[in-house]
Amino acid sequence: MAMNKYLVFLEQREGIVKKASIELWNTLQKLVAVHEDIAVCALLAGAADLQLLQATLVGEGAVYCASDHGFSLYNPECYANLVADTFKREACSALFFADTILSRELAPKLSVRLKAALLSGSPVFDAAGVDSGSVRPVYSGSALASFHSDRSLRIYTISSFPIITPTPSRVHIDFIPLQQRCSVSGEELFPLIRMMTMRDGIQDVTEAGIIIAGGRGVGGADGFALLEQLALLLGGVVGASRPAVDEGWRPHSEQIGQTGRTVAPALYLACGISGSVQHLAGIGSAGLVVAINSDCHAPIFDVADYGIVGDAPLVLRKLIDAVQDFLKKK
Ligand SMILES: Cc1cc2nc3c(=O)[nH]c(=O)nc-3n(C[C@H](O)[C@H](O)[C@H](O)COP(=O)(O)OP(=O)(O)OC[C@H]3O[C@@H](n4cnc5c(N)ncnc54)[C@H](O)[C@@H]3O)c2cc1C
Repeated sequence: MAMNKYLVFLEQREGIVKKASIELWNTLQKLVAVHEDIAVCALLAGAADLQLLQATLVGEGAVYCASDHGFSLYNPECYANLVADTFKREACSALFFADTILSRELAPKLSVRLKAALLSGSPVFDAAGVDSGSVRPVYSGSALASFHSDRSLRIYTISSFPIITPTPSRVHIDFIPLQQRCSVSGEELFPLIRMMTMRDGIQDVTEAGIIIAGGRGVGGADGFALLEQLALLLGGVVGASRPAVDEGWRPHSEQIGQTGRTVAPALYLACGISGSVQHLAGIGSAGLVVAINSDCHAPIFDVADYGIVGDAPLVLRKLIDAVQDFLKKK
């Protein structure tokens, strides 16, 4: 029986594997649960907290860990060599990346090197669990386009996941160390110019479990103080719509949507956000969506699980009081 083997790239930052990469592995494992001729393995570049990783991965397969110090920071040449070598050695047919800034640079490089088709969006699997292309929104989300390729090898950068129902019951993951070292002198070829880090303790929106997002309806930069207060209480982060960023109220790193970040929090609270298709393009994988908007006809209510019609600052103050009361009683 011909085997289809998929390689997942697990992206780490400062030793913590990105949530989107973990979600990618766990989604593909659902295919393995029903198709015995599909196998999934993963590659982790750079040392990471393997105990934490093990606690979040489901299913079965090998995770190849290249923990040489040279891989701790992204280096295009080193990473491309490592991924290409692993892909060929494991005789994989498809390579999966979460759609991140890193993968948007690395995947095209690998596509040329491996002579593989490059596809983005949400992968499509046929009845046998074999990848057969991708779909993604076009024309600002007003249509869906399908992409297919005749190439035998394919690389995907995944921004949203298809719904696959069975959940793997067995967990058997082997962490296999790789001796491979950073094969070029990365520092010479690609000098690190500046390392930008988020403020202490503030998570990246793409990694956050709770996002309190604000739009034009928040009224200005000062209006975001309430969102920050609630985010802090709930252990979440602040997100923003494009106008809030364009107005300079929030940094671009917090923008969510088509030209911002794609997020997958368990809770997404949208305050004063109308719910344009471009904004919704970034929250398709969010769990519970709650919206606060003064206009009961705002499109955000079409996608929200819970809606509150009202003035955002007023509702936020009440929410903050309620959460504070709750936390005091705990
Ligand atoms: C190519 C392209 C790419 C784009 N990419 C993005 C993107 O990545 N992300 C993104 O967000 N947008 C993007 N946009 C812009 C998008 O089309 C919308 O204009 C934008 O999402 C609207 O932002 P908003 O909801 O904050 O503002 P608005 O549409 O102005 O909505 C403000 C909302 O606040 C409500 N409101 C007003 N006052 C209050 C109050 N006191 N209390 C509660 N609610 C109140 C209003 O009822 C309204 O629903 C893109 C557009 C294009 C053309």
